[in-house]
Amino acid sequence: MSPATTTSAQGYPPSEEFAAQANATAEMYDRADADRLEFWAEQARRLDWDTDFGQVLDWSDAPFAKWFIGGKLNVAVNCVDRHVAAGKGDRVAIHWVGEPGDTRDLTYTQLQAEVSKAANYFTAIGLVAGDRVAIYMPMVPEAIVSMLACARLGLTHSVVFAGFSSGALRSRVDDAAAKLVITTDGQYRRGKPAPLKAAVDEALGTGDDAAESVEKVLVVRRTNHDPDLNWVEGRDVWWDDTVDEQSDTHEPEAFDAEHPLFLLYTSGTTGKPKGIVHSSGGYLTQASYTFHNVFDHKEGRDVFWCGADIGWVTGHSYLVYGPLSNGATEVVYEGTPNSPNEHRHFEIIEKYGVTIYYIAPTLIRTFMKWGREIPDAHDLSSVRLLGSVGEPINPEAWKWYREVIGGDTAPIVDTWWQTETGAIMISPLPGVTAAKPGSAMKPLPGISANIVDDQGKPVAHGEQGYLVLDEPWPSMLRGIWGDEDRYRDTYWSRFAEQGWYFAGDGARYDDDGALWVLGRVDDVMNISGHRISTAEVESALVGHSGVAEAAVIGAADETTGQGIVAFVILREGVENTGEALVKELREQVSIEISPIAKPREINVVPELPKTRSGKIMRRLLKDVAEGRELGDTSTLVDPSVFEAIRKKKG
Ligand code: ATP
Ligand code: MG
Repeated sequence: MSPATTTSAQGYPPSEEFAAQANATAEMYDRADADRLEFWAEQARRLDWDTDFGQVLDWSDAPFAKWFIGGKLNVAVNCVDRHVAAGKGDRVAIHWVGEPGDTRDLTYTQLQAEVSKAANYFTAIGLVAGDRVAIYMPMVPEAIVSMLACARLGLTHSVVFAGFSSGALRSRVDDAAAKLVITTDGQYRRGKPAPLKAAVDEALGTGDDAAESVEKVLVVRRTNHDPDLNWVEGRDVWWDDTVDEQSDTHEPEAFDAEHPLFLLYTSGTTGKPKGIVHSSGGYLTQASYTFHNVFDHKEGRDVFWCGADIGWVTGHSYLVYGPLSNGATEVVYEGTPNSPNEHRHFEIIEKYGVTIYYIAPTLIRTFMKWGREIPDAHDLSSVRLLGSVGEPINPEAWKWYREVIGGDTAPIVDTWWQTETGAIMISPLPGVTAAKPGSAMKPLPGISANIVDDQGKPVAHGEQGYLVLDEPWPSMLRGIWGDEDRYRDTYWSRFAEQGWYFAGDGARYDDDGALWVLGRVDDVMNISGHRISTAEVESALVGHSGVAEAAVIGAADETTGQGIVAFVILREGVENTGEALVKELREQVSIEISPIAKPREINVVPELPKTRSGKIMRRLLKDVAEGRELGDTSTLVDPSVFEAIRKKKG
């Protein structure tokens, strides 16, 4: 089936004005098609290599890829030192905004000094290339400095979101056998200091239960709120007593293109987190290339802001490696969007003249829920490009985003990618590709994707299928840390014969060949033999003026196989009229998609369960709907939302 909401959506062609100044060109698609590897070699030349690479790709040991064979580079030098050497040292790299209102600007020269000091300290405590470092920090400048200092020394970092529990931290520390853990004394949570080091202490344990690998815990003073902070002599050290005392110059060394730059555990929407391994040369090439072209970044002019946390991949690629390798000036904000009130993001855009703004659909829908008077109270005219990532964006939110935040002119790049892909894969190219609200449009130049059926046959336009990546790409994951079998199994077994990577997502081409990501195939429901994606039903529900957010799942149903159960949050000020509202919503879905897609049950709830990266945990809602015990909730923001949801369900 092919709902009218998606196929008939009108496109937004690039404006002439934008196209005339765009970094990307239509000809890039042709060049990449003609010689994909040569195209990537050209992109790799965006970076400074200490030793040039020879062969572009070695795929002989598939699915284990090697890119830019023999090449050596230093990732941190590419992100920092080379800009200083090119006379851009006085340019602000980071406009940092703390949650309580404190601010700090770091120029590239200052960033180089900070990274050098940290690198000198890491060396002083005996860390050597290949060792792992866990970073469990809020969004303070030292978190980025730590990542870059690791990169500079060839230490593989593993950033663990600072909102995760001590148990989640411990399992990640153990899995990677990290020698150093970097943290802060506390972190701000909606204006109040909350302990953070305490969670590290709990995670690392004592005596027989102590995390074996960890030698040092390096603590940045952030909140200074706890006079009785627990301190383990010999293990714990303050950043300001150690790192700050080091020399601010450091001689970098170059590492192999394949050297593991970082591990990042996936957010866990679908199950036990996996330690995804990323490389140096290939990863940085694609992070840098996509940042330049997808965000149309103009050095020295743009002010970029990615709202993601460093705890997830978007924070790695578009808060650290992509922007900094391009010499960008960016905003880094520590806190939540409603601290101290809902104006925070818009005040920041106004203050720093943000030109490129990249956030997740969940936040856009939250802004919609708060009401447009809030952004309308600010001058957002500096914004010239908008990005979306993390989930399919429903057309309603897309249009609101463009109109209210983008002054009805800013192109939107809906960027599909994953922790595993390392960088953006499918997205319009601004100034080149027309955009349709809700569609990620097409694979970037150099990327090859397809939508296929069970047998691996390409599906017809309009049909749903599996989204596969049928050619390797530079920033692809190099494996799952310590588990080759799980790597093959998870990503390469579904289409083993063809040797394709299966991303886990379902997708469809519309009649014009634009690509629509439909969310995880596990989230595709089977209603009386009809395949309906949760994303489409959610989109239809959010299309109702009273609904701010919706989560839909297929719960086991005796008659229809699966029955659609929806959970919705209402917009601010909208009254819950009970039955009447439910009836309206069911009608809405019926008109927009089909009567078959009408939810069996609609629950109005105060909150939806989300991962720390803002994604709805549908598998847990399914547990609720089917009356089961909840599965793994360790990556959930607020497990207590379930009490409210259960109460509503009676
Ligand atoms: P886990 O793999 O641990 O279950 P996760 O898949 O949520 O968690 P991420 O790697 O952060 O972890 O997210 C990638 C997924 O997010 C994609 O597979 C896709 O389902 C979704 N996604 C990201 N961007 C988009 C987008 N622009 N449009 C549609 N879906 C998107
Ligand atoms: Mg995933």
